[in-house]
Amino acid sequence: MARLHNADLDWRDGKTPESRQFGDIYFSPKDGLAETRHVFLDGIGAPDIWAGRDCYTIGETGFGTGLNFLATWAAWRKKAAPSSRLNFLSVEGFPLSGDALGKALSVWAEFSELTENLVNLYPEIHPGFHRLSFDDGRVTLTLLFGQVEEMLSRVEGQVDAWYLDGFAPSKNPDMWRPAVFQQLARLSKPGARLATFTAAGQVRRDLTEAGFAMQKAPGFSYKRECLRGAFEGEVHAYTGKPWFAPAPAQGIAGPVAVIGGGVAGLTVARRLRQAGADVTVYERDRLGAVGSGNRVGLIQPRLTAADSLDGRFNAAAYLHACRHYDQMEAAGKTSWVGPRGVLQLARDDEEAERFMRLVAEERLPGSVMQPVTGDAASDLAGIPLDRPGLWFPHGGGLKPRAVLEASAGDLSIFEQATIAGLEQSEGGWVLRDPGGNVLQETQAVILANGPFACDLWPIADLPLVAKRGQVVHLAASEASRKLKVGLSFGRYLSPAVEEAEGCFHVSGASFNLWEGMPEDEDWRQLRDEDEAEILQDVRGLSRSFADLPALPDNPGRAGLRASIIDHLPAVGAVHDGAYFDQAYGDLHHGRRQSGYGPARYLPGLYAMTGLGSRGFQTAPLLADMLVDQMLGTPLPVPRDVTEALHTGRFQIRRLRRPPKR
Ligand code: SAM
Repeated sequence: MARLHNADLDWRDGKTPESRQFGDIYFSPKDGLAETRHVFLDGIGAPDIWAGRDCYTIGETGFGTGLNFLATWAAWRKKAAPSSRLNFLSVEGFPLSGDALGKALSVWAEFSELTENLVNLYPEIHPGFHRLSFDDGRVTLTLLFGQVEEMLSRVEGQVDAWYLDGFAPSKNPDMWRPAVFQQLARLSKPGARLATFTAAGQVRRDLTEAGFAMQKAPGFSYKRECLRGAFEGEVHAYTGKPWFAPAPAQGIAGPVAVIGGGVAGLTVARRLRQAGADVTVYERDRLGAVGSGNRVGLIQPRLTAADSLDGRFNAAAYLHACRHYDQMEAAGKTSWVGPRGVLQLARDDEEAERFMRLVAEERLPGSVMQPVTGDAASDLAGIPLDRPGLWFPHGGGLKPRAVLEASAGDLSIFEQATIAGLEQSEGGWVLRDPGGNVLQETQAVILANGPFACDLWPIADLPLVAKRGQVVHLAASEASRKLKVGLSFGRYLSPAVEEAEGCFHVSGASFNLWEGMPEDEDWRQLRDEDEAEILQDVRGLSRSFADLPALPDNPGRAGLRASIIDHLPAVGAVHDGAYFDQAYGDLHHGRRQSGYGPARYLPGLYAMTGLGSRGFQTAPLLADMLVDQMLGTPLPVPRDVTEALHTGRFQIRRLRRPPKR
């Protein structure tokens, strides 16, 4: 993705921002809010158009100061039904800083609370998609930082109404090009409304050409006219690879069963409940006793050397997770362990060089990832370390069990029961217990049971395996207690935590293939060799850890993680493997992709698995992706990331290879 340029501003009368790049103003100096209400809210027929809608999605070109978003959010709070949700998607190529945003919006005292919420969550200026959520998930804002046409072309999901708010077409022609309008048409629901301040003839003609029926309306203040319209063109066919065409949005009107009560299941359950779903989470173990039940987990990004989808997904998931847990903490639901920050230490010179490349290539914004020398690392850590590394000030440790409980919220959604059978029925899906009794019949099922997802339903070609991971609890010493922040060095080490069994650090984890059956329990047995390897690595890190032993009474714990060989999770509707074989069986001939029909899915079956050892980091973003897919609302990640996480990706890879003779 191209580099971003920050907004270059002048402040007229000290309070109205003006763009130096474009020589134009962000909103009317006379009364920006009245202009927004007249042009945009009235322009799409809000709030009347919201009546009877559970969920409404507005797309905007030109986020600027966020005034349109704030005015819409405020109107939504006042006028929309309390259970309904607003999604706001906005593109911005020259973002304002959070401070500038706060200053521009401070003029409207009535928005002070909303402004504060927005400024607090406003993302680092970094290219790509940023999903923010407000009012306990009732309102989401997806900011697309980048050039308008490119960013819109990466969006998947449908929009109910558009605000076109670039600078004046004469000063900012890129925002008003037919190719941009084509993207609006691609993403529009039938009848989608559109409003803009301009009445330029060319804009009107090009919007008409793209399928919008446009009308003139009285303009605001000295402007004579503005434009309003509705999408009457043909609904666009999927333009990407047909085998990754999204599943039709099924909605969440009926009950949803989530199988698996680890971090994947409970995080998606939380998001579903925010969206108004009736959810039951089935888990055979007690809450917090499953794979995600370590005492401390570190949130720290996994970046790749090359600019890969894997690296981009992980960077986005990390930024999202930090925001997610900050918000949970602000709401008093869970808290970070000790001071914030994680240090990633280079294991050798080659890795130190790789770290410098990640910084130079700005895989994460400078304020989020900083190179540090061995001395600086020692200062940050509070103990002597002789390796350089990367400092992630927003990362930190979490208590997984507290996060799981907070995600479940109302614990009555959690049902301790083993699902042993899953069958497709006429109305949806039947869940059975090991005795064959029906536990639930439901329209929607989410397989969030880690490595066992494919035991319940064989997802065609998905190479899902179980990896056994053991952590060690190291009894803290006087010297080791000085460690202030989490360390990562191939393994990880937490600062000391005070628990009933004593004061200890958590370090892990081993990561070995485990090939048992779901009912086998032998993975729980601690292995001496795993413990010895971890102890050796920790002791070699710093003289402060030289003699740390494992806690005698509680030396560690083992868990199982679901892993897929490309190290990416699988999330979304589960594809129909039989149809894939039949429809795409000749892909190896290299025919043009336009010759194939769109993907098919098993209606109502979804997966969220393969989160590996990074479940706490990726689950919040994956949960948003999954719920957006169920609802048909715009996804929080670009289309290529969704494709990279598709359940059918391995089947397509197989079908592309010539068959063996
Ligand atoms: N809606 C905004 C508000 O409520 O403050 C005002 C938007 S301002 C009139 C136009 C915005 O379009 C600016 O923030 C500008 O940086 C952005 N913009 C201009 N050209 C762009 C492009 N090619 N891609 C993305 N954004 C662009």
